[in-house]
Amino acid sequence: MIDTQPEVKSTSVFDQMANLEHEQVVFCRDEATGLKAIIAIHNTVLGPSMGGTRMWNYASDEEALKDVLRLSRGMTFKSALAGLNIGGGKAVIIGDARKMKNEPLMRRFGKFVNSLNGKYYTAEDMNITMRDIEYMSMETPYVVGKPEYMGGSGDPSPMTAYGVYMGMKAGAKKAYGLDSLGGKNILVQGAGQVGKYLVDHLIEENANVFVADIFEDKIKAITDKHSKVSVVDPNKVFQMEMDIYAPCAMGATLNDETISELKCAVVAGAANNQLATEEKHSAMLNDHGIIYCPDFLINSGGIANVYHEYLGNYNKDRVIASTEHIYEVCLDVLNHADDHKIGSHEAALELALKRIETVGKVKLGE
Ligand code: NAD
Repeated sequence: MIDTQPEVKSTSVFDQMANLEHEQVVFCRDEATGLKAIIAIHNTVLGPSMGGTRMWNYASDEEALKDVLRLSRGMTFKSALAGLNIGGGKAVIIGDARKMKNEPLMRRFGKFVNSLNGKYYTAEDMNITMRDIEYMSMETPYVVGKPEYMGGSGDPSPMTAYGVYMGMKAGAKKAYGLDSLGGKNILVQGAGQVGKYLVDHLIEENANVFVADIFEDKIKAITDKHSKVSVVDPNKVFQMEMDIYAPCAMGATLNDETISELKCAVVAGAANNQLATEEKHSAMLNDHGIIYCPDFLINSGGIANVYHEYLGNYNKDRVIASTEHIYEVCLDVLNHADDHKIGSHEAALELALKRIETVGKVKLGE
């Protein structure tokens, strides 16, 4: 039985693994390329673990470990809830992508992925590009989200953004009785791969879109395309009055400080692990009357996309249909949470756990 409310009480690696119930954690180091990476395999009950690789300039190794443990656990629930037969895994490469990332580093990392013999399939995440996917693929077949010219399904971000958009519409339906986003003030925090495609959908629906990013080139790519988009200082996100907040950058942006400042009706975004502490901050959002569309539910379009590539019969229309289903699942979760007086995060976890346990038993022949 997977604990839905784990608390990290110790800094020992094994205690942290035990708290979040991980199967395996692999630490990777290479002198020649300067590679430092961690691969976390959370749960393989439903199938091999799958989840992207993120490169980030973590302040410490401990912070990187914490991130990869939480992210890989989130993948288990995300894939289970999306009805996919895969488990949860994730990898982080420690370092500044703008300075350190190159072909030898990515290929060396690919070799580490290969050494796990298919127990972990990687894909892209923050600061990992299609070119990096190509480099990893030179060393291992256990990479999904490959470029179309390599026979893959391409960048999963557009599908992730589409799923977030569907989830956001479900959140709006719950908050306003109508799922139209026209005229709503929506702030997208993080103008990266997912953020930029999400903005396309929002503009098409005539929402008033605001974007915040720490890099000007990311903002410019969006404002050059959509002149109506307004720019917000990334340090002033929580001072803004808005209808919908869409976190599409780092995790843990919903915490003690931000929730008490947050002035919105709905939170719906792509970032993984948005709640700094799951139970506490899910309850805090409820107390503030804010509808929270669970991250791991509404950002599953990307994993569904690469999952279909892994199955070997990739069909984009099929993935679009499964991603559209996020709308109904999200509404069900929000209503279930209301009916049972629990947070929407807990409601989504309940559904995911139920599938892991029941399907896991079928697989084990119990
Ligand atoms: P990305 O690296 O392309 O974009 C992230 C953006 O956030 C960057 O432009 C970065 O500059 C910006 N950013 C970082 N810190 C910020 C801050 N403090 N304030 C404002 N902006 C900040 O990554 P992405 O692929 O768009 O993913 C975004 C989030 O969604 C991540 O949490 C990722 O794990 C999650 N996610 C992505 C996918 C996918 O398909 N790409 C799937 C599921 C979840």
